[in-house]
Amino acid sequence: MKGRIHSVETFATVDGPGVRFIVFFQGCPLQCLYCHNRDTWDMSGGEEVDSEEIIEQFKRYLSFYRRSGGGMTASGGEPTLQPEFLSELFSKVRDLGVTTALNTTGYVNPDTAEIFLDNTDLVLLDLKVMDRERHRKLTGVDNKKIIEFARYLSAINKPVWIRHVIIPGYTDDREDIQTMVSFLATLDNVERVELLPYHSFGEKKWTQLGCQYPLKGVKPPDRELLLDLADNYASLGVQVTVD
Ligand code: SF4
Repeated sequence: MKGRIHSVETFATVDGPGVRFIVFFQGCPLQCLYCHNRDTWDMSGGEEVDSEEIIEQFKRYLSFYRRSGGGMTASGGEPTLQPEFLSELFSKVRDLGVTTALNTTGYVNPDTAEIFLDNTDLVLLDLKVMDRERHRKLTGVDNKKIIEFARYLSAINKPVWIRHVIIPGYTDDREDIQTMVSFLATLDNVERVELLPYHSFGEKKWTQLGCQYPLKGVKPPDRELLLDLADNYASLGVQVTVD
């Protein structure tokens, strides 16, 4: 089966356990103001690639993924926009005896998610802000579907790592973070929380596409703020990491 792919990366160490092969899927239903992969939005962009072709590339470094406890991570863009392709790709990776991880916005219906979740070992779920209006302003969509998806993953006991990008003035509101912590405390499947600092590396891509970067001038958070915010998650009793 063919899928629309933006690019691949062969040796990543941050998107899941061990050394990982990352497949960046083309297309995204969100339009985050801080998007670092602005060129993945257009579903007609990227290129059509057969899953076998990706698996052939993946197999070249298979021993590294195996030895490190790594595998393949689907990222994007939003991989869940191509559920059948995602499922087929992950199934082939599983057949090689390594793990699969899905980095997602969570903007997906459970019915659709059923297509690929059986072949997914770990979900890296990006949560942004809990306040609905702020979420809409930041991403262009309501977070209701995302919250429901997070609950669904808990109900089926799928292991999840939460990823929270801290953007000063947008996602660092303490009250909102407390709401997020209270929400996460209701879930049974969260293994880890990762706090990631916002960076403006994506700005160049916006400019290249002739678009104005909406967060021009916003600075990355300092490490003290990240460490301070990380304390809020301590009550969850899970591993909290700060990048
Ligand atoms: S979800 Fe990711 S790829 Fe999609 S717009 Fe947001 S940052 Fe960009």
